[in-house]
Amino acid sequence: MRRLLLIAVSTVLCLSVFVSAEGATTPPVTFPSSPKGLTPPVTLPATLDATPKYVPQISCQPSTPPGVTKLRALVLNTYGEGGAGNTARKCNEGTSEHADGRAWDWMVNVNDASEKRAAGDFLAWLTANHGANAKRLGIMYVIYNKKIWAVYRESDGWRESSGHTDHIHISFSWNGTRGNTSFWTGSLHPMDYGPCRVFTGQTAVIRSTPNTKPCPATTSLLRKHPYLLRQLGSKASTVVKAQAALKVKQTKVFDAATRVAVRTYQLAHDLPITGTLDVPTWASLFPSQATSDVTAGYTAAQAAAYGLANYSASTLKIGSVGKSTKFLQSALGMRTADRNGYFGAVTEAAVKKLQADHGREQTGIAGKVEWEILASQ
Ligand SMILES: [Zn+2]
Repeated sequence: MRRLLLIAVSTVLCLSVFVSAEGATTPPVTFPSSPKGLTPPVTLPATLDATPKYVPQISCQPSTPPGVTKLRALVLNTYGEGGAGNTARKCNEGTSEHADGRAWDWMVNVNDASEKRAAGDFLAWLTANHGANAKRLGIMYVIYNKKIWAVYRESDGWRESSGHTDHIHISFSWNGTRGNTSFWTGSLHPMDYGPCRVFTGQTAVIRSTPNTKPCPATTSLLRKHPYLLRQLGSKASTVVKAQAALKVKQTKVFDAATRVAVRTYQLAHDLPITGTLDVPTWASLFPSQATSDVTAGYTAAQAAAYGLANYSASTLKIGSVGKSTKFLQSALGMRTADRNGYFGAVTEAAVKKLQADHGREQTGIAGKVEWEILASQ
């Protein structure tokens, strides 16, 4: 009796494991055995593109780049079903590739027989052969009818998710976003790492061209500020304060005009151009409310002496970031709003002026000699 019971229990366990594994891989809708799929505009190379990794949205740059535009047109043209749906969206809706131009929602409803059939055909084609076509298009993952399939977790098949019964959400890699994949060009492309953060935990710098180098390590914040991140779509009292300071219409919503003004301000004040009201930008706009500042209390002369003692072995130039740059900006007597620890055009101009004033070649690069000049003033 006891042995029988054990056998019965183990059978049930095996069965339940089998059922849950089976459930996890069931497609979101019925897949045709030989899907029509999409026809590439070029001859495909034999080799597949590298499998896209999951790259989260860290920049605020809603747009509809070429890869997204082309796939949307081809899908709508091929199937003649569903609506064009969303591509770019605001940035204040949580982490979403829609906020950096890397997503498209194809409006195909599971309750519409012909739309559902088109969705099934596309997804069957996309995911077949271990996601070969997803790799060729640079698609990271898709969500439809409460199921998610990710090319970087291809062996897990279709996993449980939620919602998405009236559209397929499609998220792209940066290569896929820009259309730099074999499906469109017939050749393989180097990995595009996308935008990078400068300061830890802050929005990444907007970029419109591929980035073929992994992002460098981020720098700790050099000034801290109590105001929270505000970006396209945000509504908050601090947005109104920023609009007043930036001299744009006080709409109380972080709108497109505010974003343009933020970018212009960041460019003019040696801040990473993120297009968001991030901590460095708040600290530049409202420095008196900063809760900490690595150069607080240093006069220009003291900052120069500190820099000469600590940083004369390093070379500071466009793109340099960190405490050394912040001390240089203080030693140069730059405006508080421009002392952000990020070496941009304003800092470069100040270094060139220092060099010109002392009869030196205007390289715009600061090293030992510049620290010596600053410390002797
Ligand atoms: Zn979506």
